Amino acid sequence: MPEGQVSHRNALVLTRAIAGQPLVRVEAPEPRLGPQRIPERLAGDVLDHMEARGKHHLFRFRSGRVLHSHLRMGGTWRAYPAGAEVPTRGLWLALATDGATVAQYRGPVITLLEPGQPLPQVDALGPDLLGSHADPAAIGARLLAIEPTRQVGEAVMDQRVMSGIGNVYKSETLFLAGVDPWRAVGTLTPDEAADIGRIGAELLGMGVADRSRIRTYRPPLGTARPGERTWVYGRRGRPCRRCGAPVRSRGQGDANRTTYWCPTCQH
Ligand SMILES: [Zn+2]
Repeated sequence: MPEGQVSHRNALVLTRAIAGQPLVRVEAPEPRLGPQRIPERLAGDVLDHMEARGKHHLFRFRSGRVLHSHLRMGGTWRAYPAGAEVPTRGLWLALATDGATVAQYRGPVITLLEPGQPLPQVDALGPDLLGSHADPAAIGARLLAIEPTRQVGEAVMDQRVMSGIGNVYKSETLFLAGVDPWRAVGTLTPDEAADIGRIGAELLGMGVADRSRIRTYRPPLGTARPGERTWVYGRRGRPCRRCGAPVRSRGQGDANRTTYWCPTCQH
């Protein structure tokens, strides 16, 4: 599943690829996009920049139009230099300038908004962990302000509490914060809540610096073997890297997303 660091990496890469140049070709081969007439509406427009808000992608054009994309579980964006072949399998949308093409695959959410039209889901988003104004203490306070009986491991995935935390970072953040994902939010101290915000932001920042690959664990002496990328995520039954106890896992929340944790290190 794409997490926040993917959106932010995309913001850098896609903006660099096509911003400032008029679109010379727009294709929307996915039939579900047909009614929006995106190629006609965006023809000749110029991207000012692409902005990531949590997992939302907002392409802001000079006309004032905004293209909203959300990747959900399987969508991706790719950038190709001029002249490179752009794969057509799974292609939903391609925006080309004379210098490059950016292409969206497998949708599933793409909406082109006219100038001034509201962005319905995005405006309800909580503070973005990677935004320039991300304040761990404020994120912690927001976590403490929600329904106190919700489990911590479910609440940190709520994009209204904080944007950007997906399933991998959920487990990794709570391990590093030493917080049991099954605790009720109402039992968190302000320090614990702020730690969760701070660690989540740090991990997402590392993900952006690391070309969107998720690597939260760096072994001592740099002796990483392939696959040694996390503290607990994906390591069910294997020894905790801190204490040696077997890592546990179980589905959590309405969506039953798997949570990994160490029962000894997390309280
Ligand atoms: Zn442990």
